[in-house]
Amino acid sequence: MELELRGVTKTYPNGVKALDDVNLKIPHGMFGLLGPNGAGKSSLMRSLATLQAVDAGTMLFGDIDIAQQPERLREVLGYLPQDFGVYPKVTAWDMLDHLAQLKGLSKRSERHEVVKALLHRVNLWEHQSRRLGGFSGGMKQRFGIAQALIGNPKLIIVDEPTAGLDPAERFRFHNLLAEISEDVVVLLSTHIVTDVSDLCRNMAILASGKVILSGHPLELTKKLEGRIWKKFVTAEELEAISKALPVIAVRRVAGQRLAHVFSEARPDGEFEAVNPDLEDVYFQALSATQAALRLSAGQA
Ligand code: ADP
Repeated sequence: MELELRGVTKTYPNGVKALDDVNLKIPHGMFGLLGPNGAGKSSLMRSLATLQAVDAGTMLFGDIDIAQQPERLREVLGYLPQDFGVYPKVTAWDMLDHLAQLKGLSKRSERHEVVKALLHRVNLWEHQSRRLGGFSGGMKQRFGIAQALIGNPKLIIVDEPTAGLDPAERFRFHNLLAEISEDVVVLLSTHIVTDVSDLCRNMAILASGKVILSGHPLELTKKLEGRIWKKFVTAEELEAISKALPVIAVRRVAGQRLAHVFSEARPDGEFEAVNPDLEDVYFQALSATQAALRLSAGQA
């Protein structure tokens, strides 16, 4: 099944347009939705999870019109929200058992089989009797995936799941996500570029509620080959370069500033060619959008 968004638009009562004519086709496998804070990612995730209405547009999952048939969507949905809270005093087993009951697994023996399988799947079997309040961030997120997997969902939405995880926990969590995404749509929202480059076959970048770029991470990266240049700079040099060239990002390398510049040709002899990565794709797309916005504001 495929997820398709057509003209999805959402303005909050305070006037913030969080989604602005979003059009996307999301095939099965892991899809990364990348964007800075405030881009509209959570607004889109909540709308898809039927937790809030959009003002305009259509969201289709296979033959399910999400706005028209929210109950059909909920039957095939697994959702790990950004602020997934757990009851600290309840054990992993009891909480999962309870959530499975809420999801309609009323037969005790069947439900227990499901809970058992899920705890094994997310590597929390040994911790089944521990209270959730004592879980590390990574364990909580793995528990979050276990609850999202109840009922064999076909659409799994995970919102900013790796924020706050240490590198080992992130690695484990990535492996888990990669395993579940084979025949289902997994929509991963994140502001962490390596989450997408590590995991996703397809991606889109959202900024100010708009899709500014979409495609395959490797192809998008390839398109930048020969067009990204780097140079170590001081603060003063950076200021001067920024006036003359499109500096897309400044990285810190061994305590020094390394400017990445987008240019069709080598800007000058001091710049070295960069083998671009997805961060270059991301920052180039964001800076091109900001430049376009500045231009249109200046012309208005
Ligand atoms: P992201 O998940 O990419 O950080 P959000 O969808 O949370 O982005 O937010 C997009 C924009 O909508 C932001 O400007 C945010 O302040 C605003 N926003 C989000 N939720 C609400 C809300 N319930 N009411 C008003 N504004 C909101």
